[in-house]
Amino acid sequence: MLGLMQDQPLLISNMIDFAERHHADGEIVSRRVEGDLHRYTWADVAKRSRQVAHALDGLKLEFSDRVATLAWNGYRHLELYFGVSGSGRVLHTLNPRLHPDQVVWIANHAEDKVLCFDMTFLPIVQAVHARCPMIKTYVALCDADKLPADTGIPNLVSYEAWIGTKPTAYEWPQFDENSASSMCYTSGTTGNPKAALYSHRSTTLHAYAAALPDVMCISARDSILPVVPMFHVNAWGIPYSAALTGAKLVFPGPAMDGKSVYEMMEAESVTYSAGVPTVWQMMLAHMKANNLKFSTMKRTVIGGSACPPAMIRAFNDDYGVEVLHAWGMTEMSPLGTLCTLKNKQLKLPPDAQMQIRLKQGRAIFGVDMKVVNEAGESLPWDGKSSGDLLVKGPWVIAEYFKGEGGNPLVNGWFPTGDVATIDADGFLQITDRSKDVIKSGGEWISSIDVENIAMAHPAVMMAACIGMPHPKWDERPIIAVVKRPDTQVTREELLQFFDGKTAKWQIPDDVIFVDAIPLGATGKMQKMKLREQLKDYKLPTA
Ligand code: ADP
Repeated sequence: MLGLMQDQPLLISNMIDFAERHHADGEIVSRRVEGDLHRYTWADVAKRSRQVAHALDGLKLEFSDRVATLAWNGYRHLELYFGVSGSGRVLHTLNPRLHPDQVVWIANHAEDKVLCFDMTFLPIVQAVHARCPMIKTYVALCDADKLPADTGIPNLVSYEAWIGTKPTAYEWPQFDENSASSMCYTSGTTGNPKAALYSHRSTTLHAYAAALPDVMCISARDSILPVVPMFHVNAWGIPYSAALTGAKLVFPGPAMDGKSVYEMMEAESVTYSAGVPTVWQMMLAHMKANNLKFSTMKRTVIGGSACPPAMIRAFNDDYGVEVLHAWGMTEMSPLGTLCTLKNKQLKLPPDAQMQIRLKQGRAIFGVDMKVVNEAGESLPWDGKSSGDLLVKGPWVIAEYFKGEGGNPLVNGWFPTGDVATIDADGFLQITDRSKDVIKSGGEWISSIDVENIAMAHPAVMMAACIGMPHPKWDERPIIAVVKRPDTQVTREELLQFFDGKTAKWQIPDDVIFVDAIPLGATGKMQKMKLREQLKDYKLPTA
């Protein structure tokens, strides 16, 4: 039909062009691995991301080739966000908290061609490079003179030497907005990690949506310190929404302890932040112990795990900071719901408001959600009927990278593995999890991996790994073990058996020897029953 709007692809390069044109002098402040502070502007990000594009062209990378990062939140990582995707390659943010064996598996599965890393992670790169034959170039995110002579890593170049001499003008390629822009692996389900592959379109739509007032409310008036890592689902989309709006960004780099984050917030007049409950636990403890207050902080998004009521109260009552409880998933780019009150709820007494704030919030336009019973029938939105939560929308995955795990959708809906209620006002509340995983400090631990390691011990006949509530880490894994007849193994021996086989923080906190693990009719371990049996159990570390 004649008379329609212009057909322009939604590309990530448009965001950085816009940032340069409209808020060129907007500030980006980063704590560097070297310890010093680095300051520059959105104009500099734009210029240097174009140099990144030239550097990638120089390596003869093809369209859609993967460029991996192992990096903190910082300005060079931000340049890679725009330079890699803008030039048509796929930014693959690797999680440096994983065991090197897991990093090798993921990098090979992703077929990464380039790996850019902060010097903090040099030991990981040294441990993995010989087993990642597809990575042809390693880029250390540092100045040329900070690159040690003898790292043992072939084809290693410093970032500044790599991009420094490249032209600052670059014509961003134009292509289909449904092309891949970035990817993130999740071990949120059992089996091998799987990747969500984001597109330019999904990322752009998510960036618009995230900035809405009832979502993350990101604006040019804000100074934002994302505590959520840029290697974890695009730092919940903040870098992109900041580019659209011209918000100031403040990056803590490796200094993620409560004291450093607090001091950076004060020094850079931070108004807004986002992160998992564990980091706030540490910061609030630091502030309380030192009788500190915020001068500019107004709001923080808390998600990744349920936000404890005491944390919402402490932020609100003691520090005047509004907590925006959020729920999402790697498979959802990640935002699904955010908890902001409706007009009619503002008149409710504080206790009633608190009951709402504890919920995970309302769906963002772009996310459809429903809860269903075992037969797949939709349950009423009455705040009581709990069932499996399913979602769909333009920033929810259709399938995992390389089609791993087959078609994940059920009649077009993505099953989240969360169990929830939805109330008449559309507020979602997560009540349980049907997927068999543990989330510790915002990071996944696969119960299957833990069980497989335990089962390799000659004295172990059966092992079941479950999460137990923990005040700091939200959950920690423990393992219930049935011993083989006539064998001996102690708790300590079994825990030692995990050494070197997985990342340290993925090792269970405790071993409980039991006579039997409850099994269902098909022989499947019934972890809900096991949790019920262990309801009075207390973690030794809690
Ligand atoms: P993210 O940590 O960014 O939310 P992940 O893919 O690592 O993304 O984890 C998603 C899962 O984390 C959800 O399916 C849910 O189980 C849990 N989760 C996320 N946010 C919350 C929340 N606010 N309350 C309870 N659980 C949450």
